[in-house]
Amino acid sequence: MSRVRFSDLRTAAYCPRKCYYVRRDDDREPPPAVERTRALADRYEDLLAADDDALAAEPVALDPAAYRAALARTRERLRRAGRWDAIRDPAASGVLATGRHCRGIVHKVLADPLEPSVVSAGRPPERGVWEPQSVVAVAAAKALAWERETPVEGAWVEYPAYGAIRRVDLTTRRKARYRRALRTVRELDGPPPRTTNRSKCEACEYATECGVRTRTLRSLLGFD
Ligand code: SF4
Repeated sequence: MSRVRFSDLRTAAYCPRKCYYVRRDDDREPPPAVERTRALADRYEDLLAADDDALAAEPVALDPAAYRAALARTRERLRRAGRWDAIRDPAASGVLATGRHCRGIVHKVLADPLEPSVVSAGRPPERGVWEPQSVVAVAAAKALAWERETPVEGAWVEYPAYGAIRRVDLTTRRKARYRRALRTVRELDGPPPRTTNRSKCEACEYATECGVRTRTLRSLLGFD
């Protein structure tokens, strides 16, 4: 059985129907803006030292003072956890990891202990991480563990545009969601039902083809 890509797992966790469209169109390349935002995760110390004008020119989502403060809080928290140096200067970056069931690029590989870090260009939730990123974090941890024959107990998700870095423990619940996403991708042979969480459709590039009526369209039509 072929290995499932991390990006397909992420999309399936967001909306199985979107995953169907993405796979059909082989539309998996992230836009350049996403890469530019992810690249912030390689320059945390520079960003902490940057002045307001320099920060304003970066793809950060907060105003310069708020961004510096958020990133400084994150640094302190990670220093206390003993992982700041591993995050800012990882053992490896952009590593293709191939596990038993899935494969994909691990944005950062941290050492001692071995852990993956997934970098998101988006906004973090109030607490924890969004489910699609949790699924990829588990997939990356499992792939690294399989490949290197080393147990991996945790992972990280970085939201560099917001100066936020979150820990992901590999709980039974998270692993179950990962397995569900894996099953979803493997069983896709036609468009599955639309997500019931229609707020996801607002940002979905397949909304028109999918036939959902997003709030933006409803507003244009005067229904809101
Ligand atoms: S528009 Fe909504 S239901 Fe349709 S593919 Fe996108 S997220 Fe899924």
